[in-house]
Amino acid sequence: MMDTQLTIDTLMVRAEKYFAKKQVISRTATGITRLTYGDFAKRARALASALEKLGVERGDKVGTFAWNDHRHLEAYFAIPSMGAVLHTINIRLSSDHLKYIINDAKDKVLLIDKGLLPIIETIKDDIPHVKAFIILSDEEELPETILQPVYDYETLLKTGNQHHTFPVDLNENDPAGMCYTSATTGNPKGVLYTHRSIVLHSMMLGLADTMALSESDIAMHVVPMFHVNAWGFPFASVWFGTTQVLPGPNFTFKTLGNLIESERVTITAGVPTIWIGLLNELNTNTYDLSSLRNIVCGGSALPKAIIRTYQEKYNLSFIHAYGSTETSPVATVSRLKSYQQGLESEEKLEFISKQGIPVPGIEIKVINEHGKVTQNGKDMGEVLVRGPWITDAYYNQPEKTAEAVKDGWLYTGDIATVDAEGTIKIVDRTKDLIKSGGEWISSVDLENALMAHDAVSEAAVISVPHEKWQERPVAFIVKSKTANGHITKDELLDFLAPQFAKWWLPDDFIFIEEIPKTSVGKFLKMKLRNDYNSYSVS
Ligand code: ADP
Repeated sequence: MMDTQLTIDTLMVRAEKYFAKKQVISRTATGITRLTYGDFAKRARALASALEKLGVERGDKVGTFAWNDHRHLEAYFAIPSMGAVLHTINIRLSSDHLKYIINDAKDKVLLIDKGLLPIIETIKDDIPHVKAFIILSDEEELPETILQPVYDYETLLKTGNQHHTFPVDLNENDPAGMCYTSATTGNPKGVLYTHRSIVLHSMMLGLADTMALSESDIAMHVVPMFHVNAWGFPFASVWFGTTQVLPGPNFTFKTLGNLIESERVTITAGVPTIWIGLLNELNTNTYDLSSLRNIVCGGSALPKAIIRTYQEKYNLSFIHAYGSTETSPVATVSRLKSYQQGLESEEKLEFISKQGIPVPGIEIKVINEHGKVTQNGKDMGEVLVRGPWITDAYYNQPEKTAEAVKDGWLYTGDIATVDAEGTIKIVDRTKDLIKSGGEWISSVDLENALMAHDAVSEAAVISVPHEKWQERPVAFIVKSKTANGHITKDELLDFLAPQFAKWWLPDDFIFIEEIPKTSVGKFLKMKLRNDYNSYSVS
C-alpha cells in the first residue's frame, strides 16, 4: 500500500476543497463571526506565511493563549501545517506554571487574546525565548501594551499570502502539537502530539461507535481549545466538514443554552461541571435543546444522577468518554452494545456511567500486584493503556517518563474495576483513593451517590488521617439551591447507608459554599486535602 503521510495540512485541504461553503460560527468579544471553510483556509494559509516571515521555522514552538474562537482554530491548522508545533497554553494556570511551561517549551511566538494580555504582561520579563507577541482581537488597532515586539493578528494576516503552500516533506511522525497536563495532581507535564497521532485520533472521532462525528453535525466545542485540543474535535470537524460553533470568551451557561438553540447544535462536549451548571440554568430559563443528538462528557466521572435527569427531563443522552492529556485524550467510550439495549433503564444507566471499553485502535489492561484483575466488577487495579495516540514520553522529563511508561504501556494512575463485558469503571485516581484499614474505598462512588440526592449540588470526598484506620473518608457538600439549606449530616448518612458497606460511609460531612476546581473545572481535591490537612476524625 502507499505510504502517504498522515499530516494535519491534509485535513484542512479536504475542508477547503469539498466543504468551502460550510461554516465556522465563532463568538468573539464583539459578536458572532461566520466564516466559511473557504475563507478559514485562506486565513490559515496567510497566518502560516506571516509566521514564516516573522522567523518561525520547522520545529519551533508557537504558543496560543486564547479562548475558543475562529482565530484559535486558524492557529490550530497554520502552525502544524507549516511544520511548527502548536503549543496550546491553559489560560487559567498560575503565573508560576505559565512561566514554567512557556520556558520549558521554549515558545518562540505567542498568540494572545486581547482580553488575556494583562496575564502575559505580568510574566513578560521571565519568558526570554519569546521573540514576538501577536494580539488576537476584533479591532485592527493595537491595544496599549508593554509587550514587545507586538503585532496585531488581523494586520499581520494582510501581510501573509492566502495561497501559501505548506512543506511537501512533512513527516507524520513530526511533532505537531503540545499540551501540558492541567496539574490536578502536581506540576504540569508536557506531552508532544505528532501529526500521525492527531490524524488517527480524529479519524476515531468519526466512527459510528465512538462519537460518530460527521459532516451533518453542528459541533459546539465547550472543552477549552487549550485543554487536550478540545478533545480533538476541532481537528476532526475541519476534516469532516462539520459545522463548528466556538463559544468564545467568558461564556456563561446562558451563552451555551442560547448557542445550542440558535445554531441548532447537534453534538457538544465538556466536563461534568459544565453539564451540572447547564442543568441549574435550565431550572431557571427555557431553551430549545431538541437539536442535540448527544452530549459528550469526560474529564471526570459523569454522575449517574446527571445522566438520569437529562434523559428524563430533556430526552438527552450522553456519550461518556475517558482519557487524559497523555492519551490525546479519548481512550475509552461508554456506549451500550446492541444486546444491552433491552436492559432495564437503571442497568443501562449503570453502564453509561462507567467509562466503557477501549475505542478501536486502543488497548487497555487493568492490573494489580497479582497481574490482570478478574473481570468481576469488584477487583480494583491500575489502568494501563497503549495505542498510536498514547504518549510514550513526557517532554523533557525522563524520570517522570520512566515512572509512567513501562514495557510499552502507559500507567495512567487511575484505578478501575472491569466487569464481565470488559467495561472499565474508574473508581479513583491513585492519589485520591482512600485506604481504610488496608481496604480501598472509592471516593468517586461516594461522590456520585451523594450527588444523586436532590439537596446536593456537588460533593467531593477525600481521605483524612485516622489513628486506628490510617485513613477515613470525609465528604464536602455544596447544597443545591432548591434545597434551601435543608439537609443535615444524619440525613445524608441515612441516604447513603443502604447503598454502601458501613465502613465506606464518611465519618463527617462538611458543608461548604463551593468545591475548589482546577483550571478546567474538575474538583481540586488536592486543595481540600491541603486546606484540611490538620483535620482528623476519631
Ligand atoms: P489532569 O491529570 O491534570 O486532570 P487531564 O485532563 O489529562 O489532566 O486529566 C486526565 C484524568 O482525568 C484521567 O487520568 C482521569 O483521572 C480523569 N478522567 C478523565 N476522564 C474521566 C472519566 N470519564 N471518568 C473519570 N475520570 C476521568
